[in-house]
Amino acid sequence: MTFQSVLAQARAEGRTLLNEVEAKELLREAGVPATAATLATSRDQAQSQADAMGYPVVLKVVSQDIAHKSDVGGVKLNLQDRAAVGEAFDAIMTSAKAAEPNARIAGVSVQQMAKQGTEVIVGMTTDPQFGPVLMFGLGGIMVEVLKDVSFRLVPLEAKDADQMISEIKGKPILDGVRGQPPSDLAALRNTILKVSEFVQKHPEVRELDLNPVFAYPDGALAVDARIVVSEA
Ligand code: ADP
Ligand code: MG
Repeated sequence: MTFQSVLAQARAEGRTLLNEVEAKELLREAGVPATAATLATSRDQAQSQADAMGYPVVLKVVSQDIAHKSDVGGVKLNLQDRAAVGEAFDAIMTSAKAAEPNARIAGVSVQQMAKQGTEVIVGMTTDPQFGPVLMFGLGGIMVEVLKDVSFRLVPLEAKDADQMISEIKGKPILDGVRGQPPSDLAALRNTILKVSEFVQKHPEVRELDLNPVFAYPDGALAVDARIVVSEA
C-alpha cells in the first residue's frame, strides 16, 4: 500500500477519511509504531484473520461514517478465541447499525490486543495560516477535560518533540508516579518525529489522530489511528 494508492482509492470512493486499517499501514511504513490491522468483510474472514494473527485480538467497526467507534459499541477488546471473534463480529454489526442506521460499514478491523500502557495522544491539525500543527497530550480525561496539550508547527526537530513532551502539566505521570515505571520518552519523541515527517511528506493529510498511543517503559504503540485527507 502506498500513500498515493490509498489516497486514490479513498477519493474514488468519495471519502476523505482513511480507515483505521489504511491509516495504520501507512503509518507503520513511515516508521510510526502501531498495531497491524487487517480488514475483514465477513464473520468467517474475521475469524480466519484472528486465527492467523494469534489471540487475544481486538475487533473494531470500520466505517467512514463513524468517528468514535466505542460510542456505537464498535470496539470489542481482548477476544480469546475463534468463537469470541464470531460473537464480537455479530455484536458490532448489530450495535453499529442500531446506533447509525445510515452508516456505510466496510467491515471490521482485526488486530492484536496490546498490553496496557500509559495513554497519550499524538495528533495533527491544519492551521489555515500556519499549516500542519502537531499536538501531544495525555490520553483520556486529561486531554478531554483538562486540555493538557502542547503544540508545535511542522517540521519538528528532536528538541521540539522533547519540549512538547515536557511541557504538559501531566508530565510527572510519564516520569512515573506512585511506583509506576517511567514511560519511554525516547520512543514518544520518535513517534512524534515520525508523524511530523509523515505529514510533511504528504500535504494531502489534513488531520491525523493517534488516540491512544500506549507509552511503555520500553517503547510506544498506537492502537487507534485516523487520518483525514483533503478533497480531490
Ligand atoms: P474509538 O476511539 O474510535 O472509540 P479506539 O480504537 O480508540 O476506538 O478503541 C477504544 C479503546 O480501546 C482505546 O482507547 C484503547 O484503550 C482500547 N484499545 C483499542 N485498540 C486496542 C488494542 N489493539 N489493544 C488494546 N487496547 C486497545
Ligand atoms: Mg480512539
